[in-house]
Amino acid sequence: MIEGGARNRGYGGRLGRQAAAFAAVAALSLALLAGAAEARSRTDPEPMVDDAVAFIDALALTREKTGGLPESGWVRRWRGPVAVTIEGVAVPGFSAVVARSLARVSEWTGLPFRLTDGAPAGDRIVIRIRHHGVVAASYGMSDAVCLTSTYGEDGTLHRATIDISERYLDCLDHELMHAIGFNNHWHGDGVRRHVASVLAPRRSPDRRSAFSAWDILAIKTLYDASMAPGTERAEALIRARAILLEQTVIPAAGE
Ligand SMILES: [Zn+2]
Repeated sequence: MIEGGARNRGYGGRLGRQAAAFAAVAALSLALLAGAAEARSRTDPEPMVDDAVAFIDALALTREKTGGLPESGWVRRWRGPVAVTIEGVAVPGFSAVVARSLARVSEWTGLPFRLTDGAPAGDRIVIRIRHHGVVAASYGMSDAVCLTSTYGEDGTLHRATIDISERYLDCLDHELMHAIGFNNHWHGDGVRRHVASVLAPRRSPDRRSAFSAWDILAIKTLYDASMAPGTERAEALIRARAILLEQTVIPAAGE
């Protein structure tokens, strides 16, 4: 609306009084149209679907090459039961926190992610709680406090290692999201509203420490039966849109 008004003031100056009056009417109808478009976007799911597709694309289907240029990726996800172990510094109460997040992830993915003891043989995620400074030192990255590495084949994940600094236990959901197939971070590109996420940078206003409504939607979409591991980005985007158009509830901005 502000942009439309500014444009029309420019026209008035160039075209004289009569044209200025016309421009004022045009500005008013533009404003009304803008109002109508705004009202429509609150009820029409399609712009929300565009944002949700852009969100999933940025986090899961795009790969960053070493030169910084993004390239197309493919669906990476787990297929079967996943055993999760916790190692390292003992933090009282933390395993209950992990179990709660895993229960939520299990519900949204339809796959069991369960805490176990010992060294499981099949698909597994190892969470290592490290003394402060150890993560940064072991990866040679001075600002690293938490880090996840995943290993898979043809898009099917088999193993992930999550390192969490003992002083940054609130990384958990962020790292779990990396571990289940969302490699990238959320910088808010290509969407028309604020989209909150555990994968936004720590200082971003969009950052959440627990899974946001948008994160949950993205997880459910990536783990829909039609999103087979290894599906190339172009096809995955078409399928994601189809899945999202069937969703009855799309999160509001900032949720
Ligand atoms: Zn991260």
